[in-house]
Amino acid sequence: MHSAQAGSGRGHLNLWEQIALHIGEASGTPFQPKAPASMGGGCINTAVRLSDGGQQWFVKLNQASRLDMFEAEAEGLKELADAQAIRVPRPLCTGQADGQSYIAMEYISLGGSGSNAVAGEQLAELHRHQAEAFGWKRDNTIGSTHQPNGWSADWVDFWRWHRLGFQLEEAARKGLGSNIQRLGERLLDSFSVLMDHDPVPSLLHGDLWGGNLGYDDQGNPVIYDPATYYGDREAEIAMTELFGGFGGAFYDAYNSTWPLDPGYATRKTFYNLYHILNHANMFGGGYVGQAQRMMEGLLGELG
Ligand code: ADP
Repeated sequence: MHSAQAGSGRGHLNLWEQIALHIGEASGTPFQPKAPASMGGGCINTAVRLSDGGQQWFVKLNQASRLDMFEAEAEGLKELADAQAIRVPRPLCTGQADGQSYIAMEYISLGGSGSNAVAGEQLAELHRHQAEAFGWKRDNTIGSTHQPNGWSADWVDFWRWHRLGFQLEEAARKGLGSNIQRLGERLLDSFSVLMDHDPVPSLLHGDLWGGNLGYDDQGNPVIYDPATYYGDREAEIAMTELFGGFGGAFYDAYNSTWPLDPGYATRKTFYNLYHILNHANMFGGGYVGQAQRMMEGLLGELG
């Protein structure tokens, strides 16, 4: 991925001029955009569309220290796009300029309407892309939280330490309360719900809620803003159900393409606890109580 560091002799240019210069270099076509158009919408970053009337690019900005997050996003987008199963914006470059970090990627007009069934089918095709082990070649972020991805041959170990265990440590660092720790420690010892399950390491978007799926002008599904890794595809489907669901046609098409195992329903809450704990760590508030109730419910079910 094309990357530019601060202090590379462009200091006399303003933020947008530096980014435009970098985009021109990375794309091979000089780029002189008009004023950036705000895209709004993003949960974590400032998002804009840059256009010179011909080319247009989607650019996200954050503080300079978040360059690593954007580099991981760029690599994740590339991994997903290379699978050629579902449309994903092609990343172009990342860098730092004027005290900020940025990622530039293909701009896709997301106003279209499309079929949830096609999205379900294409997601199942994405999940057919597999690795030898669970994890990924680098860590990335989920929302704004670090997400460790060290390779593991054992899915249960991976989920225990890199997913649930890490969020519990994060909760302890943030002082989210002793109840979370007490329940979390009991859950870390109660992985029976996963034990009779033998998933393959599927390529996952990793943060697939409704806000990260759209449709292009031709009605093709597009997924973006990933937290890519190779894991149990049930964890991905569970997250699609967490904030409202993607509609019956999506799940029917997914299951027709590659049926989920019957035990999915029992593992779903367990997988979604990861995201609720992450929301508790990022936003606090009602998510802390929700995480606690989920853990109590799971411990009750697990006996
Ligand atoms: P954040 O990292 O802040 O959550 P997102 O990556 O989700 O930001 O992007 C914010 C919004 O911009 C999305 O909800 C989507 O509507 C739009 N968007 C995301 N990627 C693109 C893209 N490549 N081209 C055009 N619009 C995009």
